[in-house]
Amino acid sequence: MTQAVPLKLFNSLTRQLEAFEPVHPGEARVYSCGPTVYNYPHIGNMRAYVFADVLGRTLSFKGYRLTHVINITDVGHLTDDADAGEDKLEKAAKDRAQSIWDIAQHYTEAYWADVRALNIREPAQWSIATQYVPQMIEFAQSIADRHCYELPSGLYFDVTTVADYGRLARTATDASEAEGESRIDPVDGKRHPADFAIWRKTPEGEKRQMEWDSPWGRGAPGWHLECSVMSGRLLGFPFDIHTGGIDHREIHHPNEIAQNQAFCCTNGLDVPANSGARIWMHNNFLVERSGKMSKSSGEFLRLQLLIDKGYHPLAYRLMCLQAHYRGELEFSWDGLGAALTRLKRMVMAVQPLQHAEGCVGAKVLPLIARFDAALSDDLNTPVALTVLDETLALKKVDAGEKRAAIAALDAVLGLGLLTLDRTDLRIRPSAATITETEIEAILVRRKAARAAKDFATSDALRDELAAQGVEAMDGDPLGWDWKLGA
Ligand code: AMP
Ligand code: ZN
Repeated sequence: MTQAVPLKLFNSLTRQLEAFEPVHPGEARVYSCGPTVYNYPHIGNMRAYVFADVLGRTLSFKGYRLTHVINITDVGHLTDDADAGEDKLEKAAKDRAQSIWDIAQHYTEAYWADVRALNIREPAQWSIATQYVPQMIEFAQSIADRHCYELPSGLYFDVTTVADYGRLARTATDASEAEGESRIDPVDGKRHPADFAIWRKTPEGEKRQMEWDSPWGRGAPGWHLECSVMSGRLLGFPFDIHTGGIDHREIHHPNEIAQNQAFCCTNGLDVPANSGARIWMHNNFLVERSGKMSKSSGEFLRLQLLIDKGYHPLAYRLMCLQAHYRGELEFSWDGLGAALTRLKRMVMAVQPLQHAEGCVGAKVLPLIARFDAALSDDLNTPVALTVLDETLALKKVDAGEKRAAIAALDAVLGLGLLTLDRTDLRIRPSAATITETEIEAILVRRKAARAAKDFATSDALRDELAAQGVEAMDGDPLGWDWKLGA
């Protein structure tokens, strides 16, 4: 177990760095809120899973036996995170006149493809919300008497029945204060603006594609219920760490916590275990100024767009790791290009070591210790990457030993350094029609023209390439002769 330095993580619940102390010795149980599968994930969503993956890999690196669960939300998430709007999946199915189950399956698979492309390790379990509806009803029944009330539209959780509601979001539970919030709240009869639906009845005369019978009528579960039920069932309360994007700190997770408190019959949050998970962690957002991240804008930033423009998806992973997960990260094509160049340099540094054999020895141990210290400091990946750079630049170390050290570091960073080839990283948009053989043939002719000082021919050949989107890169320090423009 790599325990030279204790692991410290930032707990959103206390807004403090805390030493990780597992509930079950030697184990780490982690639950991550998964995607709502009504559309393709955008690259911002994928930042949340790169973060959860680095957390999981760090826990493994430090010797904990990891059980990671990620859910798939295929029911219950409304177009507004609170109780306003329509169910995102029902709406997508209606708009496109498709079966909701087909939509859920298509976008779940698209999400899994992004997970694989980004080297995100498979969790122990993908839990699908619609497979847990009977358990959700059971959970709701067990808390309904003491914590819920019924309205014609469904069963609602009364947030005043638990202590410290909203501690995670740092919001007041006092009704008069909360009423001042700008949140739209169309539900008639709610006792407190923050009360939320646990079960939503299908309105009279309507039919949903996904609906189930319950003691509160035919309908569908509220979104927050699924995560309480699946995390509790699969990991046991209290488990170690619950993750999600920073938006979940405001509504979804405070509501999950309230349900967990009710279910566990516990009260105030001064004992962290009362929230269901000991540590709540949130990644900050990936932002893009022109609004392309929004799934409602025609062409939004999904991983496939980056791939179509010729960028290797692991360049995006590296871009995420270059920022600390709690800081906002601004997406730009230049930033992605810079990350790709850095990844190329790394892959080229590893290539001469490809067939070397050996194991980690005394010379690289101080670097591994510094890498451990960086990650143990609330997953400081930017610093961990500089330690990787130093390791790649090591000169007087046996090739096998160096390769073993890189393998150990990359097991956490997941950049695929030992498997990527430099040609994998060439920018090659999917729309390009010119083949590599054709490009190489023109370059050979151009080289000959330059050698003969026939600059007119050389320039004409450069223009010929440019007309097909190929940029000749004379004297590129990384040794690339050409790149295809996006
Ligand atoms: P959703 O599919 O909307 O439920 O979101 C999936 C995950 O992505 C959640 O953990 C969100 O908090 C997270 N998320 C949403 N937008 C962003 C963003 N722009 N940057 C980082 N994480 C995000
Ligand atoms: Zn969730």
